[in-house]
Amino acid sequence: MIAQSPEPVTSFRPIASNERFSRQSQIHGWSQEVLSRAKLLVAGCGALGNETLKNLALLGIGTVGMIDFDSIEVINLSRSVLFRKTDVGQPKAHVAASRLAEIHPEMQVTPMHLDLTSELGAGTISDYDLVLGCLDNIEARWHLNRLCHAASVPWIDAGIEASAGQIAYFDALNGPCYECSMSSSMWQRLNERRSCLLPAQQRAVPRNIATTSIISSLVAALQVQEAVSQLHHRFAPPQTQSKWSVLRSGDRITTRLAPYSISVLHSRRNDVCLAHHDTSIAIFDLEVSPSQISVEQILTYTNMDAVELDWDIAIALECPTCGTNPVCLPSFRVVASDLNCPVCCDPRRPEWQSRITRGSRLATRTLADLGIPPRSYLSLVTNNEHRLHCRLQKTNRMRA
Ligand SMILES: [Zn+2]
Ligand SMILES: [Zn+2]
Repeated sequence: MIAQSPEPVTSFRPIASNERFSRQSQIHGWSQEVLSRAKLLVAGCGALGNETLKNLALLGIGTVGMIDFDSIEVINLSRSVLFRKTDVGQPKAHVAASRLAEIHPEMQVTPMHLDLTSELGAGTISDYDLVLGCLDNIEARWHLNRLCHAASVPWIDAGIEASAGQIAYFDALNGPCYECSMSSSMWQRLNERRSCLLPAQQRAVPRNIATTSIISSLVAALQVQEAVSQLHHRFAPPQTQSKWSVLRSGDRITTRLAPYSISVLHSRRNDVCLAHHDTSIAIFDLEVSPSQISVEQILTYTNMDAVELDWDIAIALECPTCGTNPVCLPSFRVVASDLNCPVCCDPRRPEWQSRITRGSRLATRTLADLGIPPRSYLSLVTNNEHRLHCRLQKTNRMRA
């Protein structure tokens, strides 16, 4: 599963002293061509995402995708350089994209107004060289880590507090991943957010982090510096690659403002981390959208017995008075009103399942009904636990 990457740049193109990027091109080892060919995806367009995106546009990055499911509020304006008062109510990703096009008109921008925890397939990530996480919660980071690993694309996580922040680089094929270094309290917070008993609206409530534009601009600068270094390290002419100091997978830079400090820590790979799937598992590419194919059809086509999901599906809602109502509801689409009986208003108990087998009632439903986003990488299993990864892609070839 190798992500599409640009060909390495083999030589420098001279840049005239009056060109837009001439000042930065004077830096020893700098290749503007590497940056103009680079494809970066920024997950999160909040305070941190604004600063990161602004830096990418000023540096002349060629292609930038940006994801956020949120809309702009007045409280965002004190920390978001790309947003104006007249933008309140508009999707953050779309407004950010249009402002970047003003700063750097040649930049290819792709805004995605979606929730990466339930609406983003790993295939979309595989279109990019590097992902920059500008997220504010563990659940979104956990998902992004899994998606980047499935797509074989490295990512740089960034996070801020009032007067401290950190960045960390993860390339799960070559070292520890985000999940490897999660502490027990982080797992507890993740499990609380992912709890099937918590309706979707409550899970989506963002954290209110006390912070300023000062720490977000500082941490975004570190994140983008690392992105520039990683891009040069991978794609610049070989004779200059060694000029760039890069983090190893699992390295984390922490910076504090009171008292001033900056430190680098390295984390270890956790041998039982579930994010590191077996790379020897066969891969099957299928040119289909999740709304076009049922579970039964994909299992028959691939000769497998079940689709295994990373989330639970409510297959029934049981009212103690009125009986059981069969449904097909992914956990992240369950809302508070689903958990009360519409007839007698008593609480209803959901019955959950995460493995949908051939011949079962839910097998007649489409993959989209199960909450599987376009371009997802699916895990299929046989009854004797033989596995196959199925990529919903734009090609129709089989790789073993
Ligand atoms: Zn891991
Ligand atoms: Zn009832």
